[in-house]
Amino acid sequence: MSATPELPIVDGATRLYGIIGDPIVQVGSPRLYTERFRAAGRNAILVPLHVLPDRFEETVRGLKALANLDGLVITVPYKARILTFVDRLLPMGEKVGAINAMRRESDGGWTGNMFDGRGLVKAVRTEGHAVEGRRVMLIGAGGVGSAIAVALAEAGAAAITISDLEPTRATALAERVARSVAGCRIVAGAPTAEGHDMIVNASPVGMRAGDGLPAPLGPLDPKTLAFDVVVSKEPTPFMRHARSFGCATLGGYAMMPAQVDEAIAFLGGRA
Ligand code: NAD
Repeated sequence: MSATPELPIVDGATRLYGIIGDPIVQVGSPRLYTERFRAAGRNAILVPLHVLPDRFEETVRGLKALANLDGLVITVPYKARILTFVDRLLPMGEKVGAINAMRRESDGGWTGNMFDGRGLVKAVRTEGHAVEGRRVMLIGAGGVGSAIAVALAEAGAAAITISDLEPTRATALAERVARSVAGCRIVAGAPTAEGHDMIVNASPVGMRAGDGLPAPLGPLDPKTLAFDVVVSKEPTPFMRHARSFGCATLGGYAMMPAQVDEAIAFLGGRA
């Protein structure tokens, strides 16, 4: 890490931020956020905090009690479980029903919001593709899938079909998004390429060696845009499948810059 010469790496005045998750060893945020805080002239550091599921409540209570801790980034599996620890939700967090960042306000209260989905929308546009009018097949209705459904609907997608191995999860998400965002036709349904011009894999399938496709998608129209949120240095099986039919593909790394930009602005917003 290239520390700004005028700022010590860490001293008694350093403001603390943490990323909480289980596991935690895989996260790239500590370096990314710390470098960005420093580039903005802030004496602040973000550290990985491995929070165990059976000690979650007591750990988060303890973290919030630290007077020099100004914010938390939240990763798997705590994005929904953390909700009881915030006093206010910004609209995206409210609509998604999960958050990936929370900050301490000057009145001592905590505000949370979700930035995952908007990163995907920004990545699609940055690569020169439209979101408006898209008919999207969304596979996976968990934390990131929920954020993506809301963000795509808000960005002007015409229709979204949501599929999950747990069908009730897909139905509940479709109903929640339909209630909170107007103008997009949202239904739960089986995973299929037919009738869709964008397919998003928001399931974890593709993370592990030996994984195949998240669903048997069959041949794809080359005009279909394939987005796999799985963070992988190599193209995932879903991306390889899409490329074999001439489709444009985007991977999990593409959605990170915009998410991080927004989350850092949110976390650094405190005077
Ligand atoms: P999660 O556990 O909250 O949700 C995953 C969902 O996928 C669950 O509802 C599960 O039932 C469903 N699922 C699993 N296999 C499926 C299949 N074959 N078909 C349909 N549904 C299936 O997890 P999450 O936090 O939403 O994360 C999902 C993936 O997204 C992970 O690989 C995670 O690393 C990745 N992710 C990437 C980014 C990014 O910035 N690129 C951000 C967040 C999460």
